[in-house]
Amino acid sequence: MTDNRTYRLAVLPGDGIGPEVTREAVRVLEAAAGRFGFRLEATTHPVGGAALDASGDPLPPETQAACRAADAVLLGAVGGPAWDEAPPGRRPEDGLLRLRRLLGAFANLRPVTVPAALAGASPLRPERVAGTDLVIVRELTGGIYFGTPRGIEQGPEGRRGVNTMRYDEAEIERIATVAFELAARRRGRVTSVDKANVLDVSRLWREVVTSVHRDRFPEIELDHLYVDNAAMQLVRDPRRFDVVLTANLFGDILSDLAATLPGSLGLLPSASIGGGVGLFEPVHGSAPDLAGTGRANPLAAILSGAMLLEHLGESDAAAAVRRAVASTLDDGFRTPDLAGDGEAACSTQAMGAAVCERLESTEVMA
Ligand code: NAD
Repeated sequence: MTDNRTYRLAVLPGDGIGPEVTREAVRVLEAAAGRFGFRLEATTHPVGGAALDASGDPLPPETQAACRAADAVLLGAVGGPAWDEAPPGRRPEDGLLRLRRLLGAFANLRPVTVPAALAGASPLRPERVAGTDLVIVRELTGGIYFGTPRGIEQGPEGRRGVNTMRYDEAEIERIATVAFELAARRRGRVTSVDKANVLDVSRLWREVVTSVHRDRFPEIELDHLYVDNAAMQLVRDPRRFDVVLTANLFGDILSDLAATLPGSLGLLPSASIGGGVGLFEPVHGSAPDLAGTGRANPLAAILSGAMLLEHLGESDAAAAVRRAVASTLDDGFRTPDLAGDGEAACSTQAMGAAVCERLESTEVMA
């Protein structure tokens, strides 16, 4: 924040539908700023394939500097067929991985909601998923994706592949703290997911989560599930979950499983936080099949904007954006990914405009 309630926003539209959906998200953020009396200084920077084409680097130094200096980063998506054959290190996705590392974000938050109006689009029965409102908190910088020793080596009976799942107490404590603090602002319930019946690293995970709970967050309800059971419960009864806390590998899998519940990727936002600057981006990719057609759903990007506002401390504005999205859907606006048989579909831009309109007419408490 440069001064009282002025925020520097680095916008990285990226490739494919990235620019189209971030344009709508920025429009909504600016409408929220106007309505709630704060200022946004948004600047746009290249990332991914667009940056590769312009400068040969998927995360150019200018973009890195802008992200480091910002209060928050809003990203669209990167990648596309034009760069599929690019060598490692010069692929659009390398820019995104480097950005996540640069910002030091250790916590990935993925909310999954299924508004009643859209429950029919879910692959599950509507009565089972309508009203689902959960957040997966995934540890992002540790665990088996980074532990050593790792690699493929020659063993006595042929080649042997090795990875190491490792967590230090401090890493577990800090991600558990994120989950409990989030639950305190929601329905007050954390489900910690592990495999403590088999893995030692999970036994430590469970012990540390339990002690953080006992010592600092006794008012939050905590339960523990084994990851196999958690996968089953997410399908059987997703509404039982509020905040789901889990390690990197389990979170990777469970968050994709949970992402299928609303029936479209176009509804799912995400945040990666814990470093100095938070990164907010839709879960979906660059959808090259939709780029330039006006058919992309901007709501995942707009809801990522709501998470960004929450993170900046503009909670009333964040809640107003979410309400504006809900009432846009209640009023029947549907991009093609959401439209059922016989339902009329609107464009990316029309969906963004409808959210802005509802946000602009929202009541602001004095
Ligand atoms: P994708 O998420 O781009 O698309 C998967 C399917 O979902 C497609 O049918 C697409 O049309 C649809 N879809 C995605 N976003 C949508 C939206 N907002 N509205 C309506 N429909 C939407 O995944 P993919 O096709 O596997 O990958 C395409 C490119 O995106 C690849 O180059 C991939 O590497 C990249 N990618 C980038 C990210 C990221 O930037 N974070 C994430 C995933 C994939």
